[in-house]
Amino acid sequence: MPPKPELTLRCPICKKEAKSTEADFPFCSARCRTIDLGNWSSGEYVISSPVTDAEEEFLQERSSDNRSSDNPESDS
Ligand SMILES: [Zn+2]
Repeated sequence: MPPKPELTLRCPICKKEAKSTEADFPFCSARCRTIDLGNWSSGEYVISSPVTDAEEEFLQERSSDNRSSDNPESDS
């Protein structure tokens, strides 16, 4: 593996990978940067806007977690 000069972080808004070579680092895009600014200026640091499917994946993970605890372990 060749060494990578650029740094990669997770976008704090949508959790996508953001590279330090990008203009909007540490955000993945100008959109996420704007969302972040909006969160701060509105005084609420809450993600309520339709961002990406990364949020969806997170919710799916949680629901599958719940499902596993709902499974009947035996049927005897
Ligand atoms: Zn992002």
